[in-house]
Amino acid sequence: MTAPRGVMVATPTPASARTPPKARAGETVCPSIIAASRTVTSESDPRFQIAAARRILHREGLDSQVGGHVSLRVPGEDAFLVTPFQYFDETLPEHVSKVGFDLRVLEPGTLPASPGINFHASIYAARPDVHCVIHTHAKNMSVLSTTGVAFDVYYDYAALLLDEVVPWTDDPNLVPSEEGDLMVAELGGRKALLMGHHGSLHVGDTLERVAMEALVMELCAGYQLAAMAVGGKPLERTTAESYRDAYIKNGFREQMWLANYRRLLRSDPDLFAALR
Ligand SMILES: [Zn+2]
Repeated sequence: MTAPRGVMVATPTPASARTPPKARAGETVCPSIIAASRTVTSESDPRFQIAAARRILHREGLDSQVGGHVSLRVPGEDAFLVTPFQYFDETLPEHVSKVGFDLRVLEPGTLPASPGINFHASIYAARPDVHCVIHTHAKNMSVLSTTGVAFDVYYDYAALLLDEVVPWTDDPNLVPSEEGDLMVAELGGRKALLMGHHGSLHVGDTLERVAMEALVMELCAGYQLAAMAVGGKPLERTTAESYRDAYIKNGFREQMWLANYRRLLRSDPDLFAALR
C-alpha cells in the first residue's frame, strides 16, 4: 500500500488564494536545503498528511515537546518519511525528510530529520503490514506507564485497543538497532507499546487510523487514571469486545480523522497556506 488514503476534506482554500510558505521566526533554516526541498501542492501528498497528523495530535493533547515522531512508509522503497525535532503544531510539509532503512537521508526536509528514529526503520523492515509509525511523549500515557498497571478499558473508546497495548521498558544498554528489533518482537502483531516513564509507540496500516488510535489511547489513559483514583474498575470484557467491533465496523477512526481534519481547516490556516 500506500501512502495515506481517505482524504475526504471539506472544501479547501483554492491554491491561487494561498500564500507561499515562509520560514518561521526562530527556525534554523538552510537556504541551500530549502532550494532542494520538494514542493508540496496537494493535501493528499504524504508530507502534507504527516504535518496534518502532527497538528491534530497536538490539538488533542499529544504534544511531545520537540521529541516524538510521525513517519510513513514510502511505497515500493526501503524508505520512510519522517518529521524533525520540533513542536507538533509547527510541522509543515517541507520539514519532512525521506530516510532510508539504513538511516541515510535520501531527500532532506528544510529541517533535519529527528534523531532517535532507528526503531521506525526496524519496524518498517520487519513488518510489511505497517505503513505508519507514531511515537509520542503524551502526558496521560506517560503517567499511566509509571504505575505498572496495564492499559485497559476504563472508557468505552479504549475498546479499540483491547489486547493491542504491550508494556515496554527502555534499556539504555541497548544499541539503537537492538532496541528496534526488540520493539518488533514485543509488538508481535499488535498496535501499541506503552513505554515506561516515556510515552507510547503506535503502528498500523494507515496514517489516519494510527493517528486516531494514538489520540484515543491518550484520551483513555486519562480516563483510566481518573477512574483508578476513585476506585473505578475496567469494563467487562464481553461488552468491551462488542464496543470494539462496533467502532471498527462503523469507521470510528476514519470519521474521527475527518472531524479533526475539518477542525484543522479552521485552526491551522498556515498549514493550508503552505501548499504551492
Ligand atoms: Zn521518545
